[in-house]
Amino acid sequence: MNLIDVTKQFPSDEECLKYIEQMRWPDGKVRCPVCGNDRISRITRKSTTKNVRKSLYQCLEPTCKQQFSATSGTIFNDSHLPLHKWFMALAIVVDAKKGISANQLKEHLGIGSYRTAWYMAHRIRKAMEDNSASPMTGVVELDETYIGGKAKRRGAKYRSQKPRNEKFDMVLGMRERKGRVRFVHIADGKKDTIRRVIDEHIDPEVTTLVTDSAAVYDFAMHPDLQKKRQAVNHTIQWIVPGTDFHTNTVESSFSLLKRGLIGSFHRVSIKHLRRYLSEFEFRFNVRKDEDRFTTTLRRMAGIAPMPYVELIAVPKTEA
Ligand SMILES: [Zn+2]
Repeated sequence: MNLIDVTKQFPSDEECLKYIEQMRWPDGKVRCPVCGNDRISRITRKSTTKNVRKSLYQCLEPTCKQQFSATSGTIFNDSHLPLHKWFMALAIVVDAKKGISANQLKEHLGIGSYRTAWYMAHRIRKAMEDNSASPMTGVVELDETYIGGKAKRRGAKYRSQKPRNEKFDMVLGMRERKGRVRFVHIADGKKDTIRRVIDEHIDPEVTTLVTDSAAVYDFAMHPDLQKKRQAVNHTIQWIVPGTDFHTNTVESSFSLLKRGLIGSFHRVSIKHLRRYLSEFEFRFNVRKDEDRFTTTLRRMAGIAPMPYVELIAVPKTEA
C-alpha cells in the first residue's frame, strides 16, 4: 500500500481503528489489555472533539474495570494525533528510501508542532527496531563508517577514513549478499568492541566474511571465522583478486544512510542514532515485502508505548 492507497482505504479514524482492532483481536474477541478478560462491554459515546477515540470498551471484571480502545497499550497510546495521520505518516516513512525529516512530516500532514511530528517519527522508528533478528549468514560484508565530523578529503581512499579533529561516531555495517543489512552504533573501533558485535551479529557458520584490510579485523574475530575472511585492500583494489568478494554493497548501504542523515535529518542527535539506524535497516530489509505498510503497522500495534521522557533518555551506544 502506498500513500494514495492508504488515504483511500483509511479516510478517517474509524477505518483506521477498525483495522487495528482486527490486528489486535483477529478472532473478533476483544480482550482487556490489563487483565486479559474477554467479558467486556462496548461504550458508545458522542465525542465532542474529532480526535477522541470513538470505539471504547469497558472491562467487566469487577477488580479491573479498565476502559480501553484498540490502541491502548500500543505505540499509539496517549497520542492526540488522529489515527489517519499516523497511517499517512507510516505510508510515507516506509517508502522514503532516504528517510524523511520530522519537519517534512509536519508540513505534509499539517501537524501542529515540530515536536509532535518528531515524537511521532520516533515512535514509528521504535516499531522498526528488530532486536530478535537472526545473525547474518551466507556471504557477509562487514565495514565501518563514521557519522558526523567531516572527512578532510573525499574519494574512495578516504571514504572510511576517520575524520580529524572533530566529533564523530562509528557505525559497523553488515550486509548479506542478496539479503539483509544491519547497522550497529559502536562506542569505539577497538578490537574488543568489534569482536562483541561480530560475535552477536555474524553467524559463525557464514560461508565468507568480507572486510577491508584494516588491521583491527585481524584480531577482532574467532580464529575459525578468520579462516573464512576475505580482505580487500582498499588502497589498491576494490575486489579480492581472482574472486568476486568485495564490500561494495555494504558501502552503498552506508552512502544511502549518510545521504539520508545529512539530507533529511538536519540535527540527528547521537543519542538517537540507533533508532535512525533501525529505520534505514528495516526499510531496506522489507523493501521486497509488498505489504510492508501492514507489516510495520502490525509491529506498531504490537509494541508498548514509548513515553516522551523515555525517548529523550535513551543510552548512547549499543556496543
Ligand atoms: Zn480488565
